[in-house]
Amino acid sequence: MDPHGNKCPAPLEPLMPPRPETPAKLDLDRLAVTTLPIEVAGREVMLEARAYQGRDEATQAMALINRAAPSGGVPADVGLPLVRVHSGCVTGDIFHSLRCDCYAQLQAALARIAETPNGVLIYLPYHEGRGIGLFKKIRAYALQDKGLDTVDANLEIGAPVDARDYELAAEILHDLGFEKIRLMTNNPDKVEALSTAGIVVAERVPLVVEPSRHSRRYLETKKRRLAHEL
Ligand SMILES: [Zn+2]
Repeated sequence: MDPHGNKCPAPLEPLMPPRPETPAKLDLDRLAVTTLPIEVAGREVMLEARAYQGRDEATQAMALINRAAPSGGVPADVGLPLVRVHSGCVTGDIFHSLRCDCYAQLQAALARIAETPNGVLIYLPYHEGRGIGLFKKIRAYALQDKGLDTVDANLEIGAPVDARDYELAAEILHDLGFEKIRLMTNNPDKVEALSTAGIVVAERVPLVVEPSRHSRRYLETKKRRLAHEL
């Protein structure tokens, strides 16, 4: 009963997972926001750029957002945010290495994001080499030159097959208010990891790119041994 004797309505069931009060991984006191004009498929696109600092100094991330509304939020007539959580790859993203599909996936994701209201790219530089870093990644490449596949090469150098975590990305999505998303990925582990971290992945959007003659074996290994949907 309220003070006027009326029956109080039953509280509504929350539709979204509760937003963490204090992010465990992110230091939101060190968040920097600007606009960034980028070139996507030969066209200039203006995106909101948010740089995040993790509580761990080594973890930083950037989110590029094609905002549906300048004030933020999700207008009713816009579908769920379309999100790519991209692991940084110096060889692929910067030098356009053909040994992996990172650059092609990054470009394909940006092209989709540039055309989608509330399209988001979360770029995680510290995920280099599925989280083992640049040096170990190149050591593993050297073993792949001798015939090992990407999984066995990592194991041979004493590195995990996949050391990535997605809590930071999930906390960034919470910061953006995008708790229910469509996720561009071929990696079922990524869907599961974000779901565990409180993000509702309503749809997995495949991001399949044409393999090069250098990446064909790597992509086959990802499909066969890492369950990627390619
Ligand atoms: Zn790569």
